[in-house]
Amino acid sequence: MAHFTVIGLGRFGITTSLELIHLGHTVTGIDSDEKLAEQYSTELTQTLICDATDERAMAELSLHDSDAVLVAIGEDMQASLLCVLNLKNEGVQNIWVKANSKAHHTILSKLDVSRIIHPEEEMGVRVAQALNYPMVSDYLSLGHGHYIVEVVVPQTKSPMTLDTVINGYKDDIHCLMVKRKHQIHCTPDMAFQLKPEDQLVLSGPRELLVKIAPRLKH
Ligand code: ATP
Repeated sequence: MAHFTVIGLGRFGITTSLELIHLGHTVTGIDSDEKLAEQYSTELTQTLICDATDERAMAELSLHDSDAVLVAIGEDMQASLLCVLNLKNEGVQNIWVKANSKAHHTILSKLDVSRIIHPEEEMGVRVAQALNYPMVSDYLSLGHGHYIVEVVVPQTKSPMTLDTVINGYKDDIHCLMVKRKHQIHCTPDMAFQLKPEDQLVLSGPRELLVKIAPRLKH
């Protein structure tokens, strides 16, 4: 279990906070809007009313105790940047910041924060990928064109083995596991019999994963 602080309880900040709580972590939510702080006081571990641009007020919150602080103030770039500076002054090491514009991103990249997030762009890319490859239920980019993808086995008349799916690409595409309801079969062999609705977790280069995608068309 880790402890996180989320500054700015707008849609992005509160969604992230509630998911972290759901995952078993503790979350302090901070907002200058007292109505929002009150609204989420029972759902989050604690909520605080504070103007994140106020250096002295921020110094009193012991934010360096958090495993990570997420700055989820997007609209007001000045407030977001001042908040980051205040966190740096307090010795917070792991700072994640939501950026709303290119200028915001450029300045944040000079402030040496741990991660700059563009929720709309990142979500837009994921939605486009999902529309492009509807058989892919989830994916993770490993960088340098390598991905881990989760693909659902379609209903087919003829039985399918793992070999049917990755035949011809065995050296580059690896099946990490097959998920079947609550069961997990790790690194199954090529003769593994697949059933409709099985979820295959495959890793490999993007262009080869795209090549085998038609074999899994629903
Ligand atoms: P979302 O899309 O997540 O709703 P947004 O970019 O539209 O975000 P913002 O106006 O950036 O929303 O604000 C997000 C939250 O940050 C709001 O609840 C706002 O009250 C809070 N906030 C803005 N400025 C400060 C500040 N200086 N200190 C603390 N909280 C702030």
